[in-house]
Amino acid sequence: MKRAIFPGSFDPLTSGHYDIINRGVTLFDELIIAIGVNADKKYMFTLEERKKFIEDSFSDNPKVKVVTYTGLTVDFCAKNDIEFILRGLRNPADFEFEKAIAHTNRELSTIETVFLLTAASTSYISSSIVRDVIRNNGDYTKLVPKAVRVKK
Ligand code: ADP
Repeated sequence: MKRAIFPGSFDPLTSGHYDIINRGVTLFDELIIAIGVNADKKYMFTLEERKKFIEDSFSDNPKVKVVTYTGLTVDFCAKNDIEFILRGLRNPADFEFEKAIAHTNRELSTIETVFLLTAASTSYISSSIVRDVIRNNGDYTKLVPKAVRVKK
């Protein structure tokens, strides 16, 4: 069974994540979307809201699972028999950041990181920009999947 994890904060899930998940899932038997819990970080959406956005977006795809986790991603992978980490790349900054993490993870484990290049149409989208649009009452619906809706 080829199992991969797509770790992130997903605060909130964006059309960029959605694209990477839809394309990534075709490469594996199971893709686990893992929301990392960091007690020191302030989030716009609660863990439950972030989880529900993802579950609702992929409710018709049984290969996509959603979990939350704390601690190192490689430890979570070892415990759950996961061999691959999926990550998306948008630009050189992502590459430099991801390169260091992937090398570190290889040092700590045998995990292989698989990178997918962002789709041209979603390459500019980030959760932080989406949060900014939401905070300023802009039309964020163009940047996120349909299941991601802010309660007024
Ligand atoms: P983090 O907490 O690591 O910043 P994110 O939730 O922002 O987590 O992102 C998780 C993953 O999704 C990362 O690999 C990131 O590069 C990828 N990603 C985010 N936005 C996009 C996008 N627009 N296109 C492709 N990949 C993306």
